[in-house]
Amino acid sequence: MSGNLSRRRFVRLAGAGLVAADAVHAQSGELTAQQVIERIQKNVGIAWRTQTVDTIKAGSPDTPVKGIATTMVATLDLLKRATAARRNLIIVHEPTFYSGNADEAQANAGDPLVLLKRSFIEKNDLVVWRFHDHWHARKPDGIISGMAIALGWEKYQVPDNPRLFDLPRVSLENLAQSIRTRLKIRAIRVIGDPQTMVSRTAFNPGSTALTQMMRHFSGPDVDAFVCGEPGEWNADEYARDAIASGKKKGLIILGHDMSEEWGMEECAKWLRTIISEVPIEFMPAGEAFWTPK
Ligand SMILES: [Zn+2]
Repeated sequence: MSGNLSRRRFVRLAGAGLVAADAVHAQSGELTAQQVIERIQKNVGIAWRTQTVDTIKAGSPDTPVKGIATTMVATLDLLKRATAARRNLIIVHEPTFYSGNADEAQANAGDPLVLLKRSFIEKNDLVVWRFHDHWHARKPDGIISGMAIALGWEKYQVPDNPRLFDLPRVSLENLAQSIRTRLKIRAIRVIGDPQTMVSRTAFNPGSTALTQMMRHFSGPDVDAFVCGEPGEWNADEYARDAIASGKKKGLIILGHDMSEEWGMEECAKWLRTIISEVPIEFMPAGEAFWTPK
């Protein structure tokens, strides 16, 4: 007997004190979720923080790992696909239960969708572990490395600042089109004159603060700013006013997920260098948005 049934039965037996969990795992040579996490902690190249969101969000650390999926976010759709593909340790970059707290499920504990996802995870013997702070803090930043490869921008990266790229001169419109094509983004958005010529480009994945917008749109250093999720009411309006004031610049907004997702493919590649016992697969969660034709 294999799979979920045997695991559930095992848990019941273990709970009843009939088997010793460690002994069983050691005998079968199984890698547990906790062992995978510890191997990551040991190899990530930076000291593990005491305050971090990089914790298990659902599932038991003692779960034997059949396969690993890396992804941007454990959407319900992704959880179903990972289950079907027998990837029961899901390494995510962003929250599963709509909260940035370390203990996500607690923040929205009674919500019906939180309960539904939790029970899906438990029923299918999945473990969801977040790998956010340390994947960014790694040198170089794992998300930026993966995105630079996906964008085809590695050769343009400014040596002393991995968030800056000296791209061949191109119109803002053509730059946005090429990014859309490379990353297959449906809902890319742009602020600025499409014919503005741009070269030096700053890139910021994920949440994008007003301070970053101010830096790139007030100074002369950057022609284009490609980013994830800026505030529409403050950061985007800052860019719009800067351009209206005469700045020959452009803002290209990819959306939070689309600005980071390929960084989790890079994560799968890195994991394969330290984990060989189980299959490791990058499974894109994909883009939430679409636009009418
Ligand atoms: Zn991120």
